[in-house]
Amino acid sequence: MIIVMKQGATKEQIDHVIDRIHQLGYKSHPIYGEQRTVIGAIGDERGKFRLESLASVPGVEIVMPILTPYKLVGKDLKKEPTIIRVGEHTIGADEFMLVAGPCSVESREQIIETAKAVKKAGAQYLRGGAFKPRSSPYAFQGLEEDGLKLLREASNITGLKIVTEVITPADVLLVAKYADVLQVGARNMTNYVLLKDLGKITKPVMLKRGMMATIQDLLMAAEYIASEGNPNIILCERGIRTFETATRNTLDLSAVPLLKMRSHLPVVVDPSHGTGIRDLVIPMSKAAVVSGADGLMVEVHPNPELAFSDGAQSLLPDQFDGMVKEIKKLLKLEGKHL
Ligand code: PEP
Ligand code: MN
Repeated sequence: MIIVMKQGATKEQIDHVIDRIHQLGYKSHPIYGEQRTVIGAIGDERGKFRLESLASVPGVEIVMPILTPYKLVGKDLKKEPTIIRVGEHTIGADEFMLVAGPCSVESREQIIETAKAVKKAGAQYLRGGAFKPRSSPYAFQGLEEDGLKLLREASNITGLKIVTEVITPADVLLVAKYADVLQVGARNMTNYVLLKDLGKITKPVMLKRGMMATIQDLLMAAEYIASEGNPNIILCERGIRTFETATRNTLDLSAVPLLKMRSHLPVVVDPSHGTGIRDLVIPMSKAAVVSGADGLMVEVHPNPELAFSDGAQSLLPDQFDGMVKEIKKLLKLEGKHL
C-alpha cells in the first residue's frame, strides 16, 4: 500500500503513521518530498490488520494499493508468459491451442465421430460438456459421468486431450479424473468456492469470462485459483452481454491484447459462444489469431440440426477443416503453429 500524506502534514503526523504501519506488522518506506511525503507499506495484506484504516489518521490524504489486486496472475511480480504443459503439448508458447467439439456430449457415436473429424483437421483438444449449466432447468443437463467416460474413450482412440466443464465443487475430483483441462463456464466465473477447489488441484483450468464480467473481475477470479496454489490457468474470452441483440454475445477481442498486457496467463477465444452464429465463427476465429490469442475453442457438430444444444453456432466438420486451413496461414504470420 502507498500512504500519501497531505501537503503540510506535520513531522509528528508522519511519524505517527510510520509507527502505526509498524504496529500493524508492515515495513515502512517513507519518501520525504518537497511538497508532500509518501510512505510505502510492505507486507502480506491478507492479514487481519487492514492498512486502509490509516485513511482516517490525521494528515493522511489517501491510502492506495501499490500492486494490482491480482498479484499472482498480474504482471507486477511475473513478467514472462506462463507456459502450461498438457502431455506433449504446451499452451502459452508458440504452439496454438485448438479445442474443438460439440457443445454437449450426446452419444458415443456423436463424440467419437466428432473427435475423429476434428483430430483429422488439426485440433489437439476435444471439447464437450458432460455437465451442462443450462439457462433453463428444462434443457438437456448432460450425460454426467457417462459423458466423461465417452470423452476419455474418444481421447484414447484419437490422442486428443480433453477439455470439459465442471460446475460444482463436489465434482472437481471426478472431472479431474477424466479431463486434461477443466473448464469453468461463464455462469460459474464468480463461483468462488468452485474456483478455490480448482486451486487445490494441479490440472490446468480454463476460466471463461462471465457474461457481465469486466477484465478485472476475470483476473480476480483467476487470482482465486492461483492463490490456492494452481498456477495453470487459461483465460477464455467468450463474449459479454451488451445492448446488441443481433449476436448472442459481443465478442470482445480487445480483451485479448488487454489481458496479455495485464497478465502473464495464456488467453484463448471462444467465437462460438462469443457470437452464437455459425457464419461469424470463422471470421472471428481469424481475427482472434491476429489479436494475439494463444488458442481457440470452437463448437463442431456432425449434425448441428440434431444437436441437443448450440446447433446454430456449431460448425460442420468440413467447415472446421476449412477454418483450420485459413488460420494456419495467419498462425505462420504470428510465429505460431498447431
Ligand atoms: C461451453 O463452453 O460449453 C459453455 C457453456 O460456454 P459458456 O460458459 O461460455 O456459456
Ligand atoms: Mn455451447
